[in-house]
Amino acid sequence: MIGGGYAGCAAAVTLAAAGVRCAVYEAAPLLGGRARRVVRDGLALDNGQHLLLGAYRSTLDLVRQVAPTVQPFHRRPLAIVPFGATQDDAVSLVVRRAPGRLGLGLGLLMARGLTLRERLANVAWLRALERDGFRRPAGETVTTLLEPLPRRVREQLWEPLCLAALNTPPVAASAQVFAHVLRAAFGRTGADADFVFPTVDLSAFLPEAAARFVRARGGAVEVGTTARLTHGTGGEALVVTGAAQVPVTATILAVGPHRLEMTITPEARAVQPILAAAIDSVRNFAYEPLATVWLGYATRSAMPYPIARLDDAPGQWVVERSDVLTAAAAGAPRLAQLLAVVISAAGAQLARAHADLVRDVDAQLRRLRPDLPALVWSFVVVEKRATYACTPLRPSVAAPRLAPGVYLAGDYAYPEFPATIEAAVRSGIVAAQAVLADRLARRG
Ligand SMILES: Cc1cc2nc3c(=O)[nH]c(=O)nc-3n(C[C@H](O)[C@H](O)[C@H](O)COP(=O)(O)OP(=O)(O)OC[C@H]3O[C@@H](n4cnc5c(N)ncnc54)[C@H](O)[C@@H]3O)c2cc1C
Repeated sequence: MIGGGYAGCAAAVTLAAAGVRCAVYEAAPLLGGRARRVVRDGLALDNGQHLLLGAYRSTLDLVRQVAPTVQPFHRRPLAIVPFGATQDDAVSLVVRRAPGRLGLGLGLLMARGLTLRERLANVAWLRALERDGFRRPAGETVTTLLEPLPRRVREQLWEPLCLAALNTPPVAASAQVFAHVLRAAFGRTGADADFVFPTVDLSAFLPEAAARFVRARGGAVEVGTTARLTHGTGGEALVVTGAAQVPVTATILAVGPHRLEMTITPEARAVQPILAAAIDSVRNFAYEPLATVWLGYATRSAMPYPIARLDDAPGQWVVERSDVLTAAAAGAPRLAQLLAVVISAAGAQLARAHADLVRDVDAQLRRLRPDLPALVWSFVVVEKRATYACTPLRPSVAAPRLAPGVYLAGDYAYPEFPATIEAAVRSGIVAAQAVLADRLARRG
């Protein structure tokens, strides 16, 4: 396995559980990739505040598989609840726990701030989407998908959810992928629509527990080890790490799309030209940045909900992270409240100084909640390539089988879902299952 993000870890667990010894090579000093721990001043933060859904079953099942005695997450029904007392005209909706789409229907019925016409339009729109089997025309954007809805419903409910789920502005986002997310969230049971909150940092949540699981079954997990796929003079596949060359029967490439080229040597491409074609196809991916602004306060203000909606100027969502404070190291700043503010598709913020971003986000929260205490601590993480841009008609890749003995995993290798932890995990499982099936076929 080259890459120790969620995709690589999911693949390794799947192989280890099937009794296959495997090795994971991760270039960074810790596991997790784009969903990892970042320690600052003794606080174990994440590189970005992540939102997970109850429908992300493969991730939650894998977390239970590798750490069956702990449940490092809690869940609350999906909700769009305004953060501030001054967000007078904002819609407030909590999805109810009821079978299938009934939970959303009840939530809409009881929502605050919607007229009867807006509620009925919403229900009719969802019915139409369902009647069409959640299938959308190729090339359709989310903006077009939302056109039949009243403006307030679009702007206050579905556009924010699109941005949060796809990290792509609705005007450019794929309607089909958004429809898949809606089907998953509001499909089978009310719990699918839950927000799931990890109660540990994102490296501990799955990747580090996965590494323990793999090592306990004879596998190896090496961090701080950049690996590349190459071919020896006899045409045999090798994984190169520093001076070492390890012969391999199967390699799962679980690196981000922009790292694929660096991970496959020209020698490997010469032996298997199809690898060069895969590199060409990911070259045209576009990416979206994401900023997370961490703000610490010396006294705690009550949150209306563990995650609350802002007014997009510039933050979109705010999440309370008391779990980080509970696990704080001795010497960490003494904070009574830690908030993570999310700015998805944060292109406009990329060039800005972090201090300016902190000032603007703190001022935003204060505008919405004038009673907020003084800010005492802050930290900003901006990830330039947080996710690929989830546009319609984006390049596709051959997955999981890239070439004989070479498999592909990663969020971009599971196009049904947007670039998410769940897409990464599912792609890793699919790639590992392909390895297992091919081994069986060779033996049989
Ligand atoms: C700020 C931010 C916020 C996000 N918010 C959400 C969210 O709310 N919900 C959600 O579900 N998803 C979210 N995502 C997306 C999610 O984190 C990713 O989709 C997922 O983590 C991708 O996992 P992956 O394993 O496919 O790729 P990666 O995490 O990129 O893993 C690839 C790994 O390969 C390693 N690597 C690369 N080259 C080599 C090499 N040659 N040798 C060894 N190792 C190598 C890299 O270091 C990396 O660790 C967010 C991402 C970011 C950055």
